[in-house]
Amino acid sequence: MPSYTPPLRDMQFVMHEVLKVTDEYKAMPRHADVDADTINAILEEGGKFASEVTFPLNIGGDTEGCKLDKATHEVVTPTGFKEAYAKYVEGGWPALSCDPEYGGQGLPIVVNQAFYEMLNSANQAWTMYPGLSHGAYEALHAHGTEAQKKLYLPRLVSGEWTGTMCLTEPHCGTDLGLLRTRAEPQADGTYRLTGNKIFISAGEHDLAQNIVHLVLARLPDAPKGSKGVSLFVVPKFNVNADGSLGSRNGIFCGGLEHKMGIHGNATAQIVLDGAVGTLVGEPNKGLQAMFVMMNAARIGVGMQSLGLTEVAYQNALAYAKDRIQMRSLSGTKAKDKPADPIIVHPDVRKMLLTAKAYAEGGRALTMFCSLLIDRELHHPDAKVRKDAEELVALLTPIVKAFITDNGHIATNACMQVFGGHGFIKEWGMEQFVRDNRINMIYEGTNTVQSLDLLGRKVLGNQGATLKKFGKLVAQLVEEEGVNEKMAEFINPIAMLGDQMTKFTTEIGFKAFQNPDEVGAAAVDYLRVAGHLVFGYFWARMAQAALRQIDAGNPDPFYKAKLQTARFYFAKLFPETAMLMRTARAGAKVLLETDEALS
Ligand SMILES: Cc1cc2nc3c(=O)[nH]c(=O)nc-3n(C[C@H](O)[C@H](O)[C@H](O)COP(=O)(O)OP(=O)(O)OC[C@H]3O[C@@H](n4cnc5c(N)ncnc54)[C@H](O)[C@@H]3O)c2cc1C
Repeated sequence: MPSYTPPLRDMQFVMHEVLKVTDEYKAMPRHADVDADTINAILEEGGKFASEVTFPLNIGGDTEGCKLDKATHEVVTPTGFKEAYAKYVEGGWPALSCDPEYGGQGLPIVVNQAFYEMLNSANQAWTMYPGLSHGAYEALHAHGTEAQKKLYLPRLVSGEWTGTMCLTEPHCGTDLGLLRTRAEPQADGTYRLTGNKIFISAGEHDLAQNIVHLVLARLPDAPKGSKGVSLFVVPKFNVNADGSLGSRNGIFCGGLEHKMGIHGNATAQIVLDGAVGTLVGEPNKGLQAMFVMMNAARIGVGMQSLGLTEVAYQNALAYAKDRIQMRSLSGTKAKDKPADPIIVHPDVRKMLLTAKAYAEGGRALTMFCSLLIDRELHHPDAKVRKDAEELVALLTPIVKAFITDNGHIATNACMQVFGGHGFIKEWGMEQFVRDNRINMIYEGTNTVQSLDLLGRKVLGNQGATLKKFGKLVAQLVEEEGVNEKMAEFINPIAMLGDQMTKFTTEIGFKAFQNPDEVGAAAVDYLRVAGHLVFGYFWARMAQAALRQIDAGNPDPFYKAKLQTARFYFAKLFPETAMLMRTARAGAKVLLETDEALS
């Protein structure tokens, strides 16, 4: 059976010693009073909730799955899920970072995201129920009318109701411009929606009284393609003006998908049969409105893989210390045992350190992104808000794709540490691998994320936002350029920063002649950019650790940080050289292959 310990110490290191979040909060009136003790106390309680309430349900949820009663269209979630959700609501957890105007606690996004990392380590499938509600809350908060906000937000904030995002249809996933669900305007200002959605996470369940579906559909006179898509809020139960539940709406679960992982989460086929909904935002501008939810969900998906990387690492580490097999090549290490623990073998260490470096690098990046969102929402200076918004937009596809790809590498490596036992269910490792696999696919596949990064966010504005991140790297290089102890961390990012500028210009030039060059280079490009970002955070973490060591702090935590940073730069970061080479191989080798693919 796997175990899970919330990584509170590392969270505190990133928040308070690297990012110094509370110093930043002093400039934000909403968060000026939030201190480190408060944050730490909340996360300690959050960690208990994750490890004691939802983690014990993870394996059961996987084996039991969700069940649909076809006659009533109701779904029963795995044993214990409902009770855990009730505790979550009772504890006020859904309200953590929500707006106090709607009953929220108004705490920073950093706190909420750190809590979600732990929930995802504990039980990704369960966490998706409240996770999607938070995205629905954000979309309605940003684009809902006052009436919609009054009706839906307080109950999403309290957790009494949950939310979904209904985009995908059988014939369209990536290309939402193809969607066919129709919305007919009614005399009373509402709309009747008809169509079929598939793959809707948390689309039906027994955890909450009502489900607030955010649905993309087309108005009768809508232009073709993505410019004719509108967003609607369609509740499972119609809501009366006083907020009480009315009649059952015409939105039903027609089936549940049988899938590779996240079995505890209901992936629903949703039938809209004249369901009553109201328009969110402007007609035909649904994708822009939905982007609020999609961006939140993309960061949320990165957090899912971060959570799985951490829990897989913890279990692989414990196993590697316990499992004895063969002797160390450099001579016996455990004389009292018939063989050495496998942690003595260099390649086992490589697998463990890969997962550790990706978990800790991912934690630093996602916390930084959360801090940027706090700035974007609450900083009094408009320029700071705008810069933060642009950086979040740049980093979002990296959080989504780089962290989920790393999660795939890390959970597989951790399973490998277990040898054959990793493949056997009772150890729980194969579930982490299976659960992680969807994170590379949904919320826009990782290929689509890389096209978003290179095509839209880098080449689309001539690298202007990338330069903003480049400035952060340059600042650190300037700060530490003369510090010999930091050279092993600073030199690689300084060099890659320079190479990236040339590399980006080169692809931009080729793309000018042939747009397929973007598609051919994008996936490799995102991974190189991911390493530049991770490299920057690993250098900052090494800087913070070195300062403590130089000041005589004997806490082995700092030594561990430096060792992991060294491993990261020596063994993982150098793949950037190979990736730039494969990206430079260009489109021809992929596209002039009709015979090969005939
Ligand atoms: C378990 C699960 C839960 C989900 N939850 C939700 C949910 O809650 N709400 C929701 O609306 N949807 C949900 N989805 C749907 C998910 O977001 C889509 O499956 C995903 O966006 C991909 O769409 P698709 O499956 O239609 O694949 P397609 O769009 O058909 O893509 C197939 C392949 O082609 C590639 N491709 C497509 N276009 C391009 C391009 N322009 N350039 C290069 N490559 C391209 C893709 O990367 C992919 O590899 C879920 C899916 C699953 C499996």
